[in-house]
Parts: sequence; structure tokens; C-alpha cells
Amino acid sequence: MRILITGGAGFLGSALANGLVARGHEVLALDDLSAGDPDRLDAGVLFHRGDVANRPKLWTLLQGVQCVYHLAARVLVAESVLYPHEYNEVNVGGTVALLEAMRDVGVPRLVLASSGAIYGERAAQPVTEATAPNPQSPYAVSKLAAEYYAHTVGAFWGATTVALRIFNAYGPSQPLLPSHSPVVPRFFEQALGGGSLVIFGDGRQTRDFVYVDDVVRALMAAATAEGLAGCTINVGSSVETAISDLAQQVIALTDSSSNVIYSPVESGGVSRLRADVSLARDLLGYKPQISLAEGLRKTLEADSRFRCV
Ligand code: NAD
Repeated sequence: MRILITGGAGFLGSALANGLVARGHEVLALDDLSAGDPDRLDAGVLFHRGDVANRPKLWTLLQGVQCVYHLAARVLVAESVLYPHEYNEVNVGGTVALLEAMRDVGVPRLVLASSGAIYGERAAQPVTEATAPNPQSPYAVSKLAAEYYAHTVGAFWGATTVALRIFNAYGPSQPLLPSHSPVVPRFFEQALGGGSLVIFGDGRQTRDFVYVDDVVRALMAAATAEGLAGCTINVGSSVETAISDLAQQVIALTDSSSNVIYSPVESGGVSRLRADVSLARDLLGYKPQISLAEGLRKTLEADSRFRCV
């Protein structure tokens, strides 16, 4: 297949691109490099720098493409609270621009990377796709809006649109940022640097951590599985892990003498989050294969940043 991945130089996009090229697909990656790094991409991936809302560029890139994976987005929840306009422009506006270009060229399938963040605070866990969304940040709102746009606009020209609600993905080369880094690489950096592991909130909040290879398997299946038009599907591990337990696992794995401190000023976010992945199993043949213990070990072994700390 000829495939376009927007956000293809990002953490998930590059893992997907490399995996698809290894399976013999022709893969184009579009990324504005606001957060991505083309060095993550294997030689076979055709990289193009550009904005996902640039329709003339998309018209060119989309020729002959059978499936688009749309991963380009601003992805930081805390940052979205400060810059909701930008998050709307990129995550919603970029999705709509892409949909228009796909319609113009006649591309038959879109797989959208949505997020478990759209569920927000929900007492009943695990959350299923029938759980009412409760987005609690501009980021979550933008992801939910992108889902609705994809399914609505895609149906106008008969495209198959699939939204995968990805939970807390982690793995090698996940970005480490000056502030509000994702928790797994942040804990590794803190544990290996001998500093304290800083937990926002009381550490009892739970998340569903899913290893990058499992996410990539679900994304790949979504390109070809039958009967997916208009579907929205959870992709997680379906295992609930408290952030304080994650911190202890990272400390043990790195043999670190770091302690854990709690930062009550920063919100720890929603109190619980766990994906029901029955629909992914039924529609995509998805089964999470990598446990958190194994995924953390693989991340530590494969990520060169952690070897140098
Ligand atoms: P990432 O930041 O590594 O990847 C996003 C990529 O999009 C970056 O490379 C960035 O440069 C690019 N980008 C941003 N704005 C762009 C624009 N206007 N035009 C072109 N490219 C642009 O993040 P990620 O973790 O790989 O996330 C990929 C997708 O998966 C995102 O849509 C995110 O919302 C979704 N998602 C990720 C997770 C997770 O845990 N990593 C969970 C749920 C959903």
C-alpha cells in the first residue's frame, strides 16, 4: 500500500512509519518538525517537511495514497490549557484541512489517532467506547472534535474513517521536554540522574500504559480490517497502574537510590483511567502483548538517552 502518515516524525508516527516500511509498504511521512525528529525514520520512509493544513502540498502527497494515518497534533494537555486557540487550530483545523484534501483526491481511508483523554473523570472503569466523553482540557476537546469531523466529513465522500482512542503510550524515544514531559521518560530521567521522582497529586491516580509496539499493531490493523467505517476504538493495555506504582517500578528497574516526592500544587489529572479493549479485539484482532514490566525494560534498553545519563 501507499500510505501517508501525518506527524510521521513524532514518537508514534515514526514507530508506525518504520514498521510499515519494514513490511514492504510505500510510506510518506509529513511533519512540520514542531516536535518531531526525522532522524527517527528509517531510510525507506519518504519524509516531507510541511504543515498538515497545507492543502496544495497534501494534494501532491495524497496522489495514489490508499490510507492516511493522521497523527499530526499538538499533544500536551497542560500546554493546551494555556494555548487553546493553537490547539484548536492545529488539532481541529488541521484535521478538517486534511479531510478536504483527502476528499479532493479521493483517498478511501483515514485512521485518526484520538485519545483516551476524551473520557476525562469517569467513576465507572474500564471505559468503553459507549462511555460518555467528558473532555476536561482543550487538548481532549480538540481530539473529540477531530473524531466527529473525521466521521462526519469522511462519510460525505464514502471514506472509511476509524478513530483509535490511544491511552498512555510509552516506549523508546518518547520526547523528554523541559516541562510536562510524559511520565515514563520523565521518571527514567529522574531515576537515572539520581534526583527525586516528582509525582503530581497524591500518586494514587491510575493510568492505562500501553507499549508503543502494541499501539503500532492496532494502527496497522486499522488500515485493512473490514467493517470499520465510522468506528471509534479504544487502544490501551486494559491494565490500571497507579502513578506511585509506576515510580517504584522505574526505581527498581534502574537500581536507583532516588526518592519520590509529591507536588500537590500540580494536578495529577483524572483519578482513574483504564481502557476496555473488547471492541479492538473484535474489530482489529487486537491483543496487548507487552506488559508494563516488559515495556519499561525494553524502553530502558532501547533508548540511548537513558544509557548516557
Ligand atoms: P508527537 O508530538 O511525538 O507527534 C506529533 C507529531 O506531529 C510531531 O512530530 C509534530 O512535529 C507533528 N506536528 C505537530 N503539528 C503539526 C502540523 N501542524 N503539521 C505537521 N506536523 C505537525 O506525539 P505522539 O505521542 O507521537 O502522538 C501522535 C498522535 O497520537 C497525536 O495525534 C496524539 O494526540 C495521539 N495520541 C498520543 C498518545 C500518547 O500517549 N503518545 C495518546 C493518545 C493519543
